[in-house]
Amino acid sequence: MSDSQIAIAGFAEEPPELRAALVEACQRVIDSGTWVLGPEVEAFETEFAAFTDTAYCIGVGNGLDAIEIAMRARGIGPGDEVITSPMTAAASVIGIIRAGATPVLADIDPTTALLDPQSVERCISSRTRAVLLVHLYGQMRNMDAWVELCAEHDLVLLEDCAQSHGARWQGRHGGTFGLAGGYSFYPTKNLGAIGDAGAIVTNNVDIAERARVLRNYGQRARYEHIEVGLNSRLDEIQAAMLRSRLEWLPEFTGRRQHIAAMYREGITNPHIALLAEPGDPEQHVYHQFVVTTNDREAFISHLAANEVPALIHYPTALHQQPSFAGIAHDSQGLPHAEAHAASCVSLPCHPQLTDDQVEKVIRAVESYSG
Ligand SMILES: *Cc1c(COP(=O)(O)O)cnc(C)c1O
Repeated sequence: MSDSQIAIAGFAEEPPELRAALVEACQRVIDSGTWVLGPEVEAFETEFAAFTDTAYCIGVGNGLDAIEIAMRARGIGPGDEVITSPMTAAASVIGIIRAGATPVLADIDPTTALLDPQSVERCISSRTRAVLLVHLYGQMRNMDAWVELCAEHDLVLLEDCAQSHGARWQGRHGGTFGLAGGYSFYPTKNLGAIGDAGAIVTNNVDIAERARVLRNYGQRARYEHIEVGLNSRLDEIQAAMLRSRLEWLPEFTGRRQHIAAMYREGITNPHIALLAEPGDPEQHVYHQFVVTTNDREAFISHLAANEVPALIHYPTALHQQPSFAGIAHDSQGLPHAEAHAASCVSLPCHPQLTDDQVEKVIRAVESYSG
């Protein structure tokens, strides 16, 4: 790939030391002869709990399962309503449905695309059990207010941290404000495996113990099934990959934040709106750098003509998807989510982008004439 060609994910440009460590780790696992739920998983759980400063980390199959298992571990299920955002990956809502609970969608704050607390309050009913807060695009904001809102209404706070590895609010990581946090390690996440993987972090011993049971067929000990669980075991190869990649996460996060700072400084085009800047750099790990614009198709074509690839997160709000037709939501509608979905564009923001490439993106954005 030539230096000027901008990749969407940048895996091919990763440092050779990281690649060598991944190959070495694969070999170590193959030679070990233990391939599911073994020492690599245990070591990764210890290391990721330390990284997030939580008491427990439970490796699972993927981020969707992390949400389902966290809910089931707390006994959230049929008859319970869980409020979440329509501006998120489908997995946030599918996790609620898979747990047997009923999702209710609240609107977003258009300045951040994160859940709007006022809309959440309108969605609260006598059946509401929990709020699933999504740290969308890598942002953690207003965590004190969310903790307070949930305490006031006696709701369980759960965090979808699939896009926010390493983000902190006043020094604390995602998953430590609520009862538990669900992480995804899908390859394109800020911390990614080379396949599917996920984890739950929590400071609650009961949630940790039940999640461990649920991920492995509901077994407390071998062939002792105390409930109907899932097969959502993390395998040794993925855990070993994650251990190697976790060592690079702080540096890669710093790189994402540097790229975002270049975008914030360089993008002044009046046709392009940026989301609100975080109060503190640690609150945003830029899984995505998202802008909004009125004529998205024209903007993306202009970027493509300037060799800048762009993605959309997400092209529709979830209530506009056929699979979620009829889903409950704020009685005042979800106008901000719909408007954001119709106008958002994700600029390239992976840690392997060079400054020259970031400047090329900025030039392309600045030359767009609306
Ligand atoms: C990726 C993602 C998930 C799901 O993770 P998988 O590992 O793909 O199941 C859940 N929520 C959000 C916000 C995500 O971005």
